[in-house]
This record gives sequence, structure tokens and C-alpha cells, in this order.
Amino acid sequence: MKNDDKQPSNGADAFDVVVIGGGPAGYPAAIRAAQNKLSVACIDEWKNRDGSAAFGGTCLNAGCIPSKALLESTELYHRVHEEFAVHGIKVAGATLDLAQMQKRKGGIVRGMTQGILALFKAAGVTPLQGHGRLLAGRRIEFTAHDGTRRELSARHVVLASGSTPIELRSAPFAAPHIVDSWGALDLDAVPKRLGVIGAGVIGLELGSVWRRLGAEVVVLEALPDFLAFADQALAKEALRHFRKLGLDIRLGAKVTGAAVSGATVDVSYEDAKGAQHLSVERLVVAIGRRPYTRDLLGPDPGCSWTNAASSASITPAARAWRACGRSGIAYGARCWPTRARRRARWSRT
Ligand SMILES: Cc1cc2nc3c(=O)[nH]c(=O)nc-3n(C[C@H](O)[C@H](O)[C@H](O)COP(=O)(O)OP(=O)(O)OC[C@H]3O[C@@H](n4cnc5c(N)ncnc54)[C@H](O)[C@@H]3O)c2cc1C
Repeated sequence: MKNDDKQPSNGADAFDVVVIGGGPAGYPAAIRAAQNKLSVACIDEWKNRDGSAAFGGTCLNAGCIPSKALLESTELYHRVHEEFAVHGIKVAGATLDLAQMQKRKGGIVRGMTQGILALFKAAGVTPLQGHGRLLAGRRIEFTAHDGTRRELSARHVVLASGSTPIELRSAPFAAPHIVDSWGALDLDAVPKRLGVIGAGVIGLELGSVWRRLGAEVVVLEALPDFLAFADQALAKEALRHFRKLGLDIRLGAKVTGAAVSGATVDVSYEDAKGAQHLSVERLVVAIGRRPYTRDLLGPDPGCSWTNAASSASITPAARAWRACGRSGIAYGARCWPTRARRRARWSRT
């Protein structure tokens, strides 16, 4: 798509830059562009379980921030029970108040996501909460959460629509029993036994949270090697650490089925010894994430997806912004590498 019209578009809904996606890739790009005196709108469709809209994307609402909040709380709980006595500190009657722990996590998330709105206000970014869809000629259809529609135009468009959990065909999501990482962060009781499919960073993090609170945790990993993408000396040390914590990590375990039966989930898997079975109260599927592009492109948007591997899915916002300056349209997302992810590439046609 050509980008030779250097003048800002005219009209009430014309911006220099429109960013679709208000996660860690999109919102800093929007703020930076506004700080550079461009007129900017940032569109984001995120809705929390209570129906409230929020900027911040996966990271602030359902990823890095809530998981770190729970990791901190559960580490304290674990240390009180497992380590304080060795130091000569006796704490009698320390008990778990999970509702309070979750409330604290929610408060941190709310504070940070509302902080983005304050940053937008200070920088002069127009926040738009609803769905964004790229149309021909760098026009964007915006559908607000109340259903009202309007069309925007932009000299530059940044697509920063992020990623979504990959579903496992043999263990489809069935909340509240079979959940993704977001569901695993919101459990309202400590399961007696928790199954985690995937010994990647997210699976290990979530498994650690619930193990520290007393759950028996079994992690099933299809690959024969632990943290295969990491330095193997580090991976070996990490495996020792997680096993010491009490995670039952089973490598080379391929899940073949999962069925909810009453209050439990019956999981079948195959390992080197043959068919195996496992019964858990809750099952977390954490096998990776894939690019989220639902209804992102309208008819003839002037560009198309390809399946070729590229660095597009790990493009930091700054790079997306530089690309934006050149082509008029940029795709930027930040996501941990996962072996199962089908990488998407943005290309101009
Ligand atoms: C449990 C967990 C823990 C994690 N911990 C860490 C960590 O410790 N450190 C780390 O670096 N990373 C961590 N991550 C990964 C991190 O969350 C992602 O790398 C990051 O969120 C990617 O940012 P993004 O802006 O590309 O996408 P996202 O954060 O997913 O944001 C994309 C936003 O775009 C919106 N959107 C999509 N399409 C449209 C559309 N058409 N119209 C309007 N809005 C749209 C989405 O609703 C979303 O709000 C973790 C992830 C998880 C799940």
C-alpha cells in the first residue's frame, strides 16, 4: 500500500495514527506517537469477566501482572510454612485467605489498567473501547461495545492485536474444569489435584502458584526434554528446583483425551510405557499461544496474511512504530516463543 500522502487526513474522525490493540505492544506505540505531536487513537476490545472494558491486553489483565501478583503472594505463604521455622521464626496459625489474595491481585490489575487511561489522557491519545477492523485505504471501522459504529481514517495504522491461548483438540476448554491460563489465575479454591498440560513458562508458573498453596500438581509435557528451547544447563537446574517444590513433571507425556466426569477431569495420555490415566480436579491447558486476528481485516484492506515464519509475532512496539512510518501499516505483537505457534506475517500487497 502506498503511503505518499504526507498530509493528515481531514474530518472529525481522521487521525495521524490509529493503533488497533491496547496491550504492551499497542499502548506504548500510541503514547509515543502522541508525544511526537501526532493525533492518535488507540482501539481496544478487551472485556473482563465482569463485563468491564480495560486497556492493557493480555499482559495487564490476564498474564504477566496477575500471575506475578499471585507468585508474590504464594511465595510468601510458602515461605511462612516451609522456611521461616529454619530461621528460628515461629508463626502460629498462618492460614490462607484465597479470596483476599485474589482481591489484592484484582486491585493491582485495576490500578495498572486504569493507569493506561491516565497516560493516554496526559499524552493526548483518544481511547476507543470496542472492535477495530481495517478497511481499504487505511480506513478503520470502529464498533464500540454498545454496538455503535463509526469510521476512522489514518495516515498510519498499527495492528497490535496480540495473541490467544491455543486449544488442544484432545482436551478442549470446558470451564470451570478445563481452563486456559486466564482461568487458572482466577480459581476460587485450591484444587486437591491440578493437572497442567505444557511445561512451558506459563504452565510452570501457574503450577507453582497452586503447588505453593497446597495442591498436588502434575505437569504433562509432550516433549522428552524439559524447557527444550532454553540453555540445557539452566533447564536442568530449573527442573531440579520445580521438582523440589513438589511439581510432578512427567516428560514425553502426550495427552490423548480429557473428559469431565462430575467434579473431576479424567485425563488420558501416552508415554514411553504406553497408555496412562490421571484424575484431577482442575486441568489447565498451557500449550502456547497463537496470533489473535479475529475479524481484524475487512474486505480488501490492502494487505494480507501469510503463514511464512517471520519475526512479526515478536516485533516490539518500537519496531512496529518504525515499520509504521515506512509503510503506513504495521503489525506488532509481543509474545513468548512457543513451539506450537503458527507464526503469521504481515505483508503488503
Ligand atoms: C499467564 C501469562 C503470564 C505471562 N507473563 C509474562 C511475563 O512475565 N513477562 C512477559 O514478558 N510476558 C509475559 N506474558 C506474555 C505477555 O502477556 C504477552 O507477551 C503480551 O501481552 C503481548 O502483548 P501484545 O500487546 O502483543 O498483545 P496483548 O497483550 O494480547 O494485547 C492485544 C490487545 O489487542 C486487543 N485486540 C485484538 N484485536 C482487536 C481488534 N480487532 N480490535 C480491538 N482490539 C483488539 C485485545 O483485546 C488485547 O487487549 C505472559 C502471558 C501469560 C498468558
